[in-house]
Amino acid sequence: MGNSTKKRVIRGWTGWMTLCLAFSGAGAAVDANAAGAESRDSKGFRSTLVDSESPNVSPDSGYRSELERIWLMPGASLDARGQGIRRRALALGASNLDSPARALIADMGDEGFLARRQWAVTLAPDLPLAHGAVGSAYWREGEYGKALRHYNESFLSIPRHLEASVWLVGSLLMILAGVLICGSLAFILIEGFLGFARAAHDLGDLISDRMPSFARAALVFSALGVPLLLGEGLLGVGLIFLVMGVMYGGTLDRTVLALAGMGLVVGLYPCLEGSGKLLMSLNADPVASASLALIRGSETPQQLALLLEAERDNDSLVDRTLAVRARRRGADEEAARRFREILGRDSTDQFALTILGNMAFEAGDTEAAIAAYERGRRSGGESAELMFDLSQAYAKVFRMGDGEFAMARAQQINGSAVAEFIGLDDSNFVADPPFPIAPIRSRMIAAASGRPLADAVLKVLAPGRLGEEPRFLAGGLALAFLVGLLAQGRFEHASRCLRCGRRICARCDGEIWSSDLCGACHHLFYKPEETDPMLREARIEVLQARENRLEKTGVIASILLPGVAGMRAQRPDLAFASLLLFMAALLFVVWQEGVVPDPLAVGAGGTFALGVAAVLVSVVYLGVLFSSLISWRRR
Ligand SMILES: [Zn+2]
Ligand SMILES: [Zn+2]
Repeated sequence: MGNSTKKRVIRGWTGWMTLCLAFSGAGAAVDANAAGAESRDSKGFRSTLVDSESPNVSPDSGYRSELERIWLMPGASLDARGQGIRRRALALGASNLDSPARALIADMGDEGFLARRQWAVTLAPDLPLAHGAVGSAYWREGEYGKALRHYNESFLSIPRHLEASVWLVGSLLMILAGVLICGSLAFILIEGFLGFARAAHDLGDLISDRMPSFARAALVFSALGVPLLLGEGLLGVGLIFLVMGVMYGGTLDRTVLALAGMGLVVGLYPCLEGSGKLLMSLNADPVASASLALIRGSETPQQLALLLEAERDNDSLVDRTLAVRARRRGADEEAARRFREILGRDSTDQFALTILGNMAFEAGDTEAAIAAYERGRRSGGESAELMFDLSQAYAKVFRMGDGEFAMARAQQINGSAVAEFIGLDDSNFVADPPFPIAPIRSRMIAAASGRPLADAVLKVLAPGRLGEEPRFLAGGLALAFLVGLLAQGRFEHASRCLRCGRRICARCDGEIWSSDLCGACHHLFYKPEETDPMLREARIEVLQARENRLEKTGVIASILLPGVAGMRAQRPDLAFASLLLFMAALLFVVWQEGVVPDPLAVGAGGTFALGVAAVLVSVVYLGVLFSSLISWRRR
């Protein structure tokens, strides 16, 4: 059996490693990694003398886009390249250029260290890695206030970045799953364990009231072995513990046990599966990944080939991506044809209408541009770029009132983007809308499955029927709960004397006073006239010493072991809370860098956020521990 468990664990880890590899691979595939971008970059610098005579890129110059050509401009200063690429990127709707930003961050040279990182933020304002890199540059210079502000910005930009948000939400769901699974299971095991000795005695009484204690214990152990023999694993044993916990616990114990059962199901199914789905999503749909890479300006030749191949499938994402590619390479005729084809399929496509309008505007045909913008506005509503472009076109034909109105609308919709457009101070500037990322995200998530990860974990915890389907687990837990509940009122429970620790049993003992006090202690404390004063004093001294000893070990155990303090104070709710919080603090520390490798997007901001979460959770944990200790004192 040990061997097969080991195999299962290894299989679980293999699933895990696959996930990690898949995720980091996705990060590299979705965006060319910083090293790759950098090597292109230095090549650009080295080739200064060779091809400085080719300033105008033709679509076949070998650059992936006009933006790459500007970025790799030979001999230009960082500021010149940065301003040039930012301006053209805004015009082409590429307000986030992750690849050059990563290349800038990867350059660790001392000269211009902070400036490079600030340019990275300008080029990719939605890339959390860039904000974090500026933060650590400030930290290095001892400007901690500024550093913290940028770390904070890095965290706040995570929702705006697809890979980063997938990484963060996937990691958080995984941590939540770990907390719910381990915390709930631990609570059920503790509750069951507390009923163990009494269950052993009561079960023994069923057979013979003269059965020795070790035989009784063996009886319960063999009951625990049944689920293992049936191949139901740890969760199967958990069910027996749940029965004992429900049978011997109070009302509050049963309520919290029910919560723990639910926590187990929620952790194993929605949380774990959702986490796996998200973490697998970045390379679940190769076409969507290729499309995202191209939009970010970092597609590999293989990804481009994949997109060109998928062109035949009438895939609207592919059509749009290839149209944008043509636009970014300066292949105007091809771009116009492709955008017109998109309009042919959906005449209200605002994205295509805005870009066609911009191409007309740039070609000097302002009337055609206005017609396209107005059509886009009527069919698809207003976007900041569309309204800004419209106001630029109105200004060209001296429709000042309309132009001001359109500009005001644009500023209402996205003030900061429009402020940057206005800052360029160019009456010939129009901006393409950014490529819609939401359809890519939903395609990726739809294509991904969280089953492999959930199955890998279930194989370890519940290799049998229980792990096959959520309803089997939920049914098993409900059944165990019901059995415990039904058995609970059917017989006299054995208990323990609170004073001396002796077992109390209505069947075996001749006289019984209460479930908390044995006969001897009853006489000792409540009938002093029936006892010899000398013997009485000695006995009380022994009991007092026992109590002191128990208290000392109890306090130490409470501090060292999560959940003990709550159980001692007869507050299972506090015990369960502290188990969950302890697990959360532990997992936040263990997975400080995320559950899977950062897809070159999150950087210091993610670690910072998870570190802050670890501290907050630990503080709450200490609070719960403290109130458990106090509530034990007051008891
Ligand atoms: Zn006693
Ligand atoms: Zn008995």
